[in-house]
Amino acid sequence: MNPPKDADARRAVPPVICYPTDTLPAADMALYQTARDRLTPLSRVTVAPRDAAVIKVPAGHFLRIHSVDGPQVGDLNLFNANDLSERFYSGKTRALHGTHVTTGDRLWSSFPTLRPMATVTHDTLDWYGMDAFGGSVHDVIGTRCDPYTGNLLSDAQYHHCCHSNLTRALAGHMGQGLDAAEPLVHDVLNVFMCTGFTRDTGQYFMKASPVRPGDYIELFAEIDLLAVLSACPGGDCSAEHSSDAAACYPLDMEVLRPQDGTLDGWVPPVVNGYDRSHGV
Ligand SMILES: [Zn+2]
Repeated sequence: MNPPKDADARRAVPPVICYPTDTLPAADMALYQTARDRLTPLSRVTVAPRDAAVIKVPAGHFLRIHSVDGPQVGDLNLFNANDLSERFYSGKTRALHGTHVTTGDRLWSSFPTLRPMATVTHDTLDWYGMDAFGGSVHDVIGTRCDPYTGNLLSDAQYHHCCHSNLTRALAGHMGQGLDAAEPLVHDVLNVFMCTGFTRDTGQYFMKASPVRPGDYIELFAEIDLLAVLSACPGGDCSAEHSSDAAACYPLDMEVLRPQDGTLDGWVPPVVNGYDRSHGV
Protein backbone atom coordinates (compact mmCIF):
# COMPACT_ATOMS: atom_id res chain seq x y z
CA MET A 1 0.00 0.00 0.00
CA ASN A 2 1.18 3.51 -0.78
CA PRO A 3 1.21 5.60 2.39
CA PRO A 4 -1.13 8.60 2.45
CA LYS A 5 0.31 12.08 1.77
CA ASP A 6 0.14 12.97 5.45
CA ALA A 7 1.74 9.70 6.65
CA ASP A 8 4.71 11.40 8.26
CA ALA A 9 2.45 13.91 10.00
CA ARG A 10 0.31 11.09 11.40
CA ARG A 11 3.38 9.23 12.62
CA ALA A 12 4.68 12.41 14.22
CA VAL A 13 1.72 12.71 16.60
CA PRO A 14 3.25 12.47 20.09
CA PRO A 15 2.08 9.59 22.32
CA VAL A 16 -0.04 10.08 25.41
CA ILE A 17 0.43 7.94 28.52
CA CYS A 18 -2.70 5.72 28.76
CA TYR A 19 -2.84 5.61 32.52
CA PRO A 20 -1.08 8.48 34.28
CA THR A 21 -0.37 7.02 37.71
CA ASP A 22 -0.34 10.25 39.72
CA THR A 23 -3.91 9.69 40.94
CA LEU A 24 -3.33 6.09 42.06
CA PRO A 25 -3.39 5.49 45.81
CA ALA A 26 0.23 6.22 46.67
CA ALA A 27 2.41 3.68 48.44
CA ASP A 28 3.96 5.14 51.59
CA MET A 29 7.51 4.16 50.64
CA ALA A 30 9.01 5.99 53.64
CA LEU A 31 6.89 3.90 56.01
CA TYR A 32 7.90 0.67 54.23
CA GLN A 33 11.52 1.75 54.35
CA THR A 34 11.32 2.22 58.12
CA ALA A 35 9.62 -1.16 58.52
CA ARG A 36 12.19 -3.00 56.41
CA ASP A 37 15.10 -1.64 58.45
CA ARG A 38 14.49 -4.22 61.20
CA LEU A 39 13.13 -7.48 59.86
CA THR A 40 13.03 -10.91 61.45
CA PRO A 41 13.11 -13.98 59.20
CA LEU A 42 9.90 -15.96 59.64
CA SER A 43 10.03 -18.74 57.06
CA ARG A 44 11.99 -19.76 54.01
CA VAL A 45 11.51 -22.28 51.22
CA THR A 46 13.82 -23.36 48.42
CA VAL A 47 12.38 -23.70 44.95
CA ALA A 48 14.15 -26.57 43.22
CA PRO A 49 15.24 -26.10 39.58
CA ARG A 50 12.45 -26.90 37.08
CA ASP A 51 9.99 -27.11 39.95
CA ALA A 52 7.80 -24.77 42.00
CA ALA A 53 7.10 -24.12 45.67
CA VAL A 54 4.47 -22.31 47.73
CA ILE A 55 4.79 -19.93 50.68
CA LYS A 56 2.27 -17.87 52.64
CA VAL A 57 3.04 -14.22 53.30
CA PRO A 58 0.82 -12.60 55.96
CA ALA A 59 -0.35 -9.05 55.21
CA GLY A 60 2.18 -6.55 56.53
CA HIS A 61 5.13 -8.91 56.00
CA PHE A 62 7.83 -8.89 53.33
CA LEU A 63 8.64 -11.55 50.75
CA ARG A 64 12.15 -11.74 49.36
CA ILE A 65 12.95 -13.82 46.31
CA HIS A 66 16.65 -14.64 46.38
CA SER A 67 19.02 -15.73 43.66
CA VAL A 68 21.17 -18.55 45.03
CA ASP A 69 23.88 -20.71 43.44
CA GLY A 70 23.59 -19.28 39.92
CA PRO A 71 21.65 -16.99 37.56
CA GLN A 72 18.05 -18.14 37.44
CA VAL A 73 14.72 -16.70 36.39
CA GLY A 74 11.50 -17.27 38.34
CA ASP A 75 7.84 -17.21 37.32
CA LEU A 76 5.71 -15.86 40.16
CA ASN A 77 1.98 -16.30 40.77
CA LEU A 78 0.33 -14.37 43.61
CA PHE A 79 -3.03 -15.12 45.19
CA ASN A 80 -5.12 -13.69 47.99
CA ALA A 81 -4.37 -16.49 50.49
CA ASN A 82 -7.99 -16.41 51.71
CA ASP A 83 -9.67 -16.33 48.29
CA LEU A 84 -7.77 -17.85 45.38
CA SER A 85 -10.11 -16.16 42.89
CA GLU A 86 -8.26 -12.90 43.60
CA ARG A 87 -5.02 -13.19 41.66
CA PHE A 88 -2.21 -11.14 40.25
CA TYR A 89 -3.19 -9.29 37.05
CA SER A 90 -0.04 -8.87 35.00
CA GLY A 91 -1.80 -7.10 32.10
CA LYS A 92 -3.21 -4.33 34.27
CA THR A 93 0.02 -4.03 36.21
CA ARG A 94 1.77 -3.54 32.85
CA ALA A 95 -0.80 -0.96 31.73
CA LEU A 96 -0.30 1.01 34.95
CA HIS A 97 3.43 0.73 35.59
CA GLY A 98 5.01 -0.31 32.30
CA THR A 99 6.61 -3.45 30.87
CA HIS A 100 8.92 -4.10 33.84
CA VAL A 101 8.56 -3.39 37.55
CA THR A 102 10.98 -2.24 40.19
CA THR A 103 11.05 -0.45 43.56
CA GLY A 104 7.91 1.62 44.12
CA ASP A 105 5.74 -0.23 41.60
CA ARG A 106 2.76 -2.23 42.78
CA LEU A 107 1.38 -5.59 41.76
CA TRP A 108 -2.35 -5.36 41.13
CA SER A 109 -5.07 -7.97 41.55
CA SER A 110 -7.69 -9.14 39.10
CA PHE A 111 -11.24 -7.80 38.66
CA PRO A 112 -13.40 -7.08 40.55
CA THR A 113 -11.03 -6.34 43.43
CA LEU A 114 -8.32 -4.51 41.40
CA ARG A 115 -6.20 -3.37 44.32
CA PRO A 116 -2.49 -3.53 45.12
CA MET A 117 -1.68 -7.02 46.37
CA ALA A 118 1.98 -6.19 46.89
CA THR A 119 4.41 -3.31 46.56
CA VAL A 120 8.01 -3.70 45.37
CA THR A 121 10.06 -2.32 48.28
CA HIS A 122 13.58 -3.29 47.20
CA ASP A 123 15.26 -4.53 44.04
CA THR A 124 19.00 -5.13 43.89
CA LEU A 125 18.76 -5.06 40.08
CA ASP A 126 17.22 -1.59 39.90
CA TRP A 127 20.57 -0.31 38.54
CA TYR A 128 19.95 -2.20 35.28
CA GLY A 129 17.38 0.23 33.91
CA MET A 130 16.69 -0.16 30.18
CA ASP A 131 19.54 -1.47 28.03
CA ALA A 132 20.44 -0.56 24.44
CA PHE A 133 18.23 -3.37 23.09
CA GLY A 134 15.19 -2.11 24.99
CA GLY A 135 15.58 -4.92 27.51
CA SER A 136 14.88 -4.62 31.23
CA VAL A 137 14.37 -6.86 34.27
CA HIS A 138 11.30 -8.27 36.10
CA ASP A 139 8.82 -8.24 33.25
CA VAL A 140 5.05 -8.31 33.21
CA ILE A 141 4.93 -8.84 29.43
CA GLY A 142 5.73 -12.53 29.17
CA THR A 143 3.06 -15.03 30.08
CA ARG A 144 4.70 -18.14 31.54
CA CYS A 145 6.39 -20.92 29.63
CA ASP A 146 3.88 -23.67 29.08
CA PRO A 147 3.57 -27.09 27.45
CA TYR A 148 0.75 -26.06 25.13
CA THR A 149 2.79 -23.48 23.20
CA GLY A 150 5.70 -25.94 23.11
CA ASN A 151 3.40 -28.56 21.66
CA LEU A 152 2.07 -26.08 19.10
CA LEU A 153 5.54 -25.06 17.96
CA SER A 154 7.38 -28.38 18.06
CA ASP A 155 4.90 -31.14 18.89
CA ALA A 156 6.68 -31.66 22.22
CA GLN A 157 5.42 -33.18 25.48
CA TYR A 158 7.49 -31.36 28.10
CA HIS A 159 6.29 -31.46 31.72
CA HIS A 160 8.47 -28.97 33.61
CA CYS A 161 7.47 -25.65 32.06
CA CYS A 162 6.56 -23.01 34.64
CA HIS A 163 2.86 -23.48 33.92
CA SER A 164 3.07 -27.17 34.87
CA ASN A 165 5.37 -26.49 37.83
CA LEU A 166 2.94 -23.87 39.18
CA THR A 167 -0.02 -26.21 38.59
CA ARG A 168 1.61 -29.12 40.47
CA ALA A 169 2.67 -26.93 43.41
CA LEU A 170 -0.72 -25.25 43.69
CA ALA A 171 -2.57 -28.58 43.47
CA GLY A 172 -0.36 -29.93 46.26
CA HIS A 173 -1.07 -26.88 48.41
CA MET A 174 -4.83 -27.09 47.78
CA GLY A 175 -4.89 -30.84 48.36
CA GLN A 176 -6.83 -31.15 45.12
CA GLY A 177 -6.23 -32.46 41.64
CA LEU A 178 -4.51 -30.81 38.71
CA ASP A 179 -7.92 -30.01 37.19
CA ALA A 180 -8.79 -27.79 40.16
CA ALA A 181 -5.44 -26.01 40.23
CA GLU A 182 -4.65 -25.46 36.55
CA PRO A 183 -7.40 -22.87 35.82
CA LEU A 184 -6.13 -20.76 38.74
CA VAL A 185 -2.60 -20.46 37.33
CA HIS A 186 -2.20 -17.07 35.69
CA ASP A 187 0.25 -14.87 33.83
CA VAL A 188 3.26 -14.17 35.98
CA LEU A 189 5.72 -11.64 37.19
CA ASN A 190 8.89 -12.84 35.47
CA VAL A 191 11.29 -12.35 38.36
CA PHE A 192 14.90 -11.59 37.29
CA MET A 193 14.03 -12.22 33.63
CA CYS A 194 15.53 -9.75 31.12
CA THR A 195 13.19 -9.13 28.20
CA GLY A 196 11.86 -6.60 25.76
CA PHE A 197 10.40 -6.18 22.31
CA THR A 198 12.60 -5.90 19.22
CA ARG A 199 12.37 -2.42 17.73
CA ASP A 200 12.11 -3.65 14.11
CA THR A 201 9.61 -6.52 14.33
CA GLY A 202 8.11 -5.89 17.76
CA GLN A 203 8.83 -9.49 18.81
CA TYR A 204 9.22 -10.54 22.41
CA PHE A 205 12.86 -11.24 23.19
CA MET A 206 14.81 -12.54 26.16
CA LYS A 207 18.48 -12.35 26.99
CA ALA A 208 20.74 -13.69 29.72
CA SER A 209 19.50 -12.39 33.06
CA PRO A 210 21.93 -10.03 34.83
CA VAL A 211 20.96 -11.64 38.17
CA ARG A 212 23.73 -13.12 40.31
CA PRO A 213 23.62 -15.03 43.61
CA GLY A 214 22.95 -12.54 46.40
CA ASP A 215 20.48 -10.50 44.35
CA TYR A 216 16.90 -10.30 45.51
CA ILE A 217 13.61 -8.57 44.85
CA GLU A 218 11.47 -7.73 47.88
CA LEU A 219 7.69 -7.39 47.97
CA PHE A 220 5.56 -5.97 50.76
CA ALA A 221 2.36 -8.00 51.19
CA GLU A 222 -0.56 -5.58 51.19
CA ILE A 223 -2.98 -8.47 51.82
CA ASP A 224 -2.50 -12.08 52.98
CA LEU A 225 -0.66 -13.65 50.06
CA LEU A 226 -0.05 -17.10 48.73
CA ALA A 227 3.07 -16.93 46.57
CA VAL A 228 3.81 -19.73 44.11
CA LEU A 229 7.18 -19.54 42.37
CA SER A 230 8.61 -21.69 39.58
CA ALA A 231 12.34 -21.89 38.87
CA CYS A 232 12.03 -21.69 35.08
CA PRO A 233 13.51 -24.52 32.99
CA GLY A 234 15.10 -21.72 30.94
CA GLY A 235 17.61 -21.05 33.76
CA ASP A 236 18.93 -17.53 33.07
CA CYS A 237 16.85 -17.57 29.85
CA SER A 238 19.90 -16.81 27.68
CA ALA A 239 19.02 -19.37 25.02
CA GLU A 240 15.87 -21.43 25.35
CA HIS A 241 13.22 -22.62 27.70
CA SER A 242 10.67 -25.44 27.68
CA SER A 243 13.40 -28.11 27.76
CA ASP A 244 16.02 -29.61 30.06
CA ALA A 245 18.90 -28.10 28.06
CA ALA A 246 19.61 -24.96 30.12
CA ALA A 247 21.65 -24.83 33.35
CA CYS A 248 19.12 -24.31 36.15
CA TYR A 249 19.54 -23.22 39.76
CA PRO A 250 17.27 -23.00 42.78
CA LEU A 251 15.59 -19.85 44.03
CA ASP A 252 14.70 -19.07 47.65
CA MET A 253 11.55 -17.43 48.96
CA GLU A 254 11.89 -15.84 52.39
CA VAL A 255 9.19 -14.23 54.53
CA LEU A 256 10.29 -11.49 56.94
CA ARG A 257 8.35 -9.87 59.76
CA PRO A 258 8.78 -6.20 60.67
CA GLN A 259 9.03 -5.08 64.28
CA ASP A 260 5.79 -4.28 66.07
CA GLY A 261 4.77 -0.66 65.70
CA THR A 262 6.84 0.09 62.59
CA LEU A 263 3.78 -0.12 60.34
CA ASP A 264 1.50 2.07 62.44
CA GLY A 265 -0.79 3.94 60.09
CA TRP A 266 -0.72 1.29 57.36
CA VAL A 267 -3.99 -0.41 56.47
CA PRO A 268 -4.53 -3.12 53.83
CA PRO A 269 -6.03 -1.67 50.63
CA VAL A 270 -9.80 -2.05 50.31
CA VAL A 271 -11.34 -3.74 47.29
CA ASN A 272 -12.10 -1.62 44.22
CA GLY A 273 -14.90 0.92 44.58
CA TYR A 274 -16.71 0.30 41.27
CA ASP A 275 -20.33 -0.60 42.05
CA ARG A 276 -20.44 -3.49 39.51
CA SER A 277 -23.87 -2.57 38.10
CA HIS A 278 -22.35 -2.39 34.56
CA GLY A 279 -25.04 -0.05 33.27
CA VAL A 280 -27.95 -2.37 34.13
ZN1 LIG B 1 9.34 -20.51 32.65
